[in-house]
Amino acid sequence: MAATMKILLVEDNDNNRDMLVRRLQRRGFEVSIAVDGEEAQSVAHAEIPDLILMDMSLPVIDGWEATRRLKASPTTGRIPVIALTAHAMAGDRDKALEAGCDDYDTKPIELPRLLGKISALLGTAGSD
Ligand code: MN
Repeated sequence: MAATMKILLVEDNDNNRDMLVRRLQRRGFEVSIAVDGEEAQSVAHAEIPDLILMDMSLPVIDGWEATRRLKASPTTGRIPVIALTAHAMAGDRDKALEAGCDDYDTKPIELPRLLGKISALLGTAGSD
């Protein structure tokens, strides 16, 4: 039996956040939330999640800067971050990877595709 994996979802849109939280919980993940890039810092430091899903378009501190700060911290720097963006532009992917994101996915979320990326970064089989 694998240990429960803890995901921090950083998303400012209530509907998107609630829907994705429910879908991840149904897949057996423990999910914490933050609603902006600043809150993401405090929650990540307090909970040390196994993985972070980071919306890029966020209030207070955007997802790129929030990721840079998390990756610069010895406490949170090793936590994998998957960037989520509504923009399927090639430049966005590069920008996310430059900021330190480990992977990148576009909205609307296709859950099987996102779960595949999560499993790859967590080193789990992702079978169910
Ligand atoms: Mn957003």
